[in-house]
Amino acid sequence: TYVVMDNCIACKYTDCVEVCPVDCFYEGENMLVIHPDECIDCGVCEPECPADAIRPDTEADTEKWVEFNRKYSEIW
Ligand code: SF4
Repeated sequence: TYVVMDNCIACKYTDCVEVCPVDCFYEGENMLVIHPDECIDCGVCEPECPADAIRPDTEADTEKWVEFNRKYSEIW
């Protein structure tokens, strides 16, 4: 899965949401999140993010962000 990290906070762009083929972005409290079970790992959103906030969970230190993204994509 891909995850949104804290660089997203206060970013007003939604380019990532527009390109996602499965609509798995959700609005958190002050940032967007990706539902980790719905993301199909296509990677299309990553280069679209002007805040450089989207990363694959294969990168180091993304674990807590996966759980954060899950929590906020299921909360509303
Ligand atoms: Fe959507 Fe693809 Fe980004 Fe996953 S990697 S959130 S499926 S655009």
